[in-house]
Amino acid sequence: MDFLVFIKQVPDTDEVKVDEESGTIIREGVPSILNPFDEYALNLALRLKEGMEDEVNITAMSMGPPQAKDALKKCLAIGADRGILLSDKVFGGADTWATSFTLFKGVEKMGGADLYFSGQEATDGNTAQVGPELASHLNLSSMTYVEDVLDINPKEGYLTAKKETDEGFIKLKSELPVVLSCMTPPDFEPKIPGVKEIMKAKNKPLDTWNHDDLGGTEEEYGLEGSESQVISTYPPPSKGPGEKFEGPAEEGAEKIFALLKDEGVCDD
Ligand SMILES: Cc1cc2nc3c(=O)[nH]c(=O)nc-3n(C[C@H](O)[C@H](O)[C@H](O)COP(=O)(O)OP(=O)(O)OC[C@H]3O[C@@H](n4cnc5c(N)ncnc54)[C@H](O)[C@@H]3O)c2cc1C
Repeated sequence: MDFLVFIKQVPDTDEVKVDEESGTIIREGVPSILNPFDEYALNLALRLKEGMEDEVNITAMSMGPPQAKDALKKCLAIGADRGILLSDKVFGGADTWATSFTLFKGVEKMGGADLYFSGQEATDGNTAQVGPELASHLNLSSMTYVEDVLDINPKEGYLTAKKETDEGFIKLKSELPVVLSCMTPPDFEPKIPGVKEIMKAKNKPLDTWNHDDLGGTEEEYGLEGSESQVISTYPPPSKGPGEKFEGPAEEGAEKIFALLKDEGVCDD
């Protein structure tokens, strides 16, 4: 069986700064990491692989600049069998639709898979669109907010997943193949690869495919293939320092009440 995990390299969000004048993200000197939701998706794929009777090959695929190879190398060290980077200047400026189209062309070239995993969202773009869009390109079902796979039966051709909802969790069954958008459960402990795993990963295949490899016209990719356009980006306005009341609790409560009344939040 072939499992395919879509992974994205993202800026370490704790350290992202926005240029207040231009409104653009300052990427220089900001370290990049493997998107945490994708790291969980890969770990879920590995756990399923361990419990399968059939041989399973796990491929990690990413679209991004050449440095996104580092995130793929991490996936190989964690346990993926193969890495594929889709990288070309033609892919630049892609919105989510053009991104998912590029990944779809990568899937076509690879010959498809039996199960697809993505993260629920990327911590920089946060649209949560790429997983379901991939399902649309592949003409497959999409399962979002998947925290776990409870049962997988390739012979019968289905899996059952645990999906988070606003009310709690539901069990959902789907035919295979399906695209799972994975949510990280609160108790997830990421696997930290040791020196042995990192050295072993150096011998695993890591390919780079460009536009010529994927085929199609240049207009289908990148900025030209994008249906949406970012008009501007800006950080949220910074909040004031707030007010601190010292003294007895009753006095403080009265002051807060008077303040809320002045702001029109409440009446007498
Ligand atoms: C008009 C426009 C122009 C843009 N131009 C640029 C640009 O020039 N440079 C730039 O860096 N970004 C650009 N972006 C942002 C870019 O489109 C998004 O980063 C990208 O489409 C992924 O969307 P997301 O981050 O919301 O991912 P989500 O949909 O939140 O991600 C869900 C999951 O999909 C998978 N996934 C997402 N992206 C990738 C990927 N690249 N490779 C593999 N798997 C992936 C991962 O598993 C991820 O967890 C642009 C966006 C728009 C709308």
